[in-house]
Amino acid sequence: MDPFSSLETLRSGLDSGEFSSVELAKHYLARINKYNPQLNCFITIPEAEALQQATKADALIAKGNSGVLCGLPMALKDIFLTRGILTTCGSRMLENFIAPYNSTVAEKLAGSGMVCLGKTNMDEFAMGSSNENSHYGAVRNPWNTEYVPGGSSGGSAAAVSAALVPVAAGTDTGGSIRQPAAFCGISGIKPTYGRVSRYGMVAFASSLDQGGAFGRCVQDVALLLSGMGGHDPRDSTSADHDMQDIHALATGDDKGFTLGNKKITIGLPKEYLENLDGAQLQAVYETARNIFETQGVQFREVSLPHTSVAVPTYYVIAGAEASTNLSRYDGVRYGYRCKDPQNLEDLYVRSRTEGFGDEVKRRILTGTYTLSVGYYDAYYVKAQKVRRLIANDFSEVFKDVDLLMTPTTPSHAFKLGQLTKDPVEMYQQDIFTTPASLAGLPCLSVPCGTINGLPLGLQLIAPHFEEALLLKTGYLFQQHSDWHTQYPEPGAL
Ligand code: GLN
Repeated sequence: MDPFSSLETLRSGLDSGEFSSVELAKHYLARINKYNPQLNCFITIPEAEALQQATKADALIAKGNSGVLCGLPMALKDIFLTRGILTTCGSRMLENFIAPYNSTVAEKLAGSGMVCLGKTNMDEFAMGSSNENSHYGAVRNPWNTEYVPGGSSGGSAAAVSAALVPVAAGTDTGGSIRQPAAFCGISGIKPTYGRVSRYGMVAFASSLDQGGAFGRCVQDVALLLSGMGGHDPRDSTSADHDMQDIHALATGDDKGFTLGNKKITIGLPKEYLENLDGAQLQAVYETARNIFETQGVQFREVSLPHTSVAVPTYYVIAGAEASTNLSRYDGVRYGYRCKDPQNLEDLYVRSRTEGFGDEVKRRILTGTYTLSVGYYDAYYVKAQKVRRLIANDFSEVFKDVDLLMTPTTPSHAFKLGQLTKDPVEMYQQDIFTTPASLAGLPCLSVPCGTINGLPLGLQLIAPHFEEALLLKTGYLFQQHSDWHTQYPEPGAL
């Protein structure tokens, strides 16, 4: 069995009886146990529960009443609550936290018969772009273990890239699915805000947080997303929007995943390309454009004038929301509690001082500052106004083009430790991902080349709820390129 197989191939293997779900789970668990000590992708590996789920899936498959996802393995970012299984969110604050209920995402995927092989490592409370902010240690990039896998969903991306699981769920607030997908040479979708329920997903910045999917090819991403998305009355910002087009892709009812006769026009935002560093990177995106052009796709230069202020706007809004969301970790209700508190104030102060890491404290401090009396209008209100201008830029260009194409990141993965000294430089890594997050738009990152042996990602951005168009366009790209079939250090993993 080839661990780098697509879900479609694994599905046929399960359906034809070539292997069982239990055998499949054991095969990937063996890879996890072999490579995790080196890559550190997983915080928890619930082997016994996984094998129980696989046994149940095998019974359903034998009865012939299983769905497309039944019996297939996956992993969940450790931000999704799982009843009875540890959920740390990468933090010491939640090092012993066993949720009493399931997140909607965990529940839906389990309900579809998928087998969860592990909870993946991540930047603490999803704050970071390198996965170096995890209390459980940094994750390493399978393409070169001296480099970061990206963040904050670095464990999910690295695990899929090294074929420790075929697919994994992640979350993206300002780039945390797209950037690690790009750095690890895999595909990743951040759907429209509201597509995937936030119920039971530990909150970072509630107006931006969105669950999404990683896979090695676009079809795998579509399949996992079809199992995760849909309206959920338990999340007040969940979108009541039809999932039919995504289900049709996943089940093969949308014949061949093709755009058919639809002629599409892709916009190239000039502000993004101006920020591209170096001729090599330019050449990569030229190649991507040529691939689309030979398939009849048209291109047009467009302008998103507020692009350069997206990073500061994002960090003001995300910090403000984080500071309020994280006030619940007070050492009283749940989470880490310091030893021998002297009084209530000491309990709060020491529990939070000891339970949170440096980056999380930085966000709480800046967020509290921008929300405080006297600074609220200058920072928070101003950022909300700029957010509206950024969203308007996108609405304007989508009157003329179907999609936008940009690099996912300004460069390939950086070395472990390279940017940890300068938070602002680290934040600048999100320059191409934060604008669409502020506008709540769906985006897909697909691999589109390598420089110095490290992968690069191409980002496609679509209007709200146009995930199917996004996935079909990504599929078109993958039919005419082979970067998604390249693996880190072939043979070594
Ligand atoms: N890198 C960004 C941050 O640190 C985005 C994180 C995310 O999308 N969760 O906030």
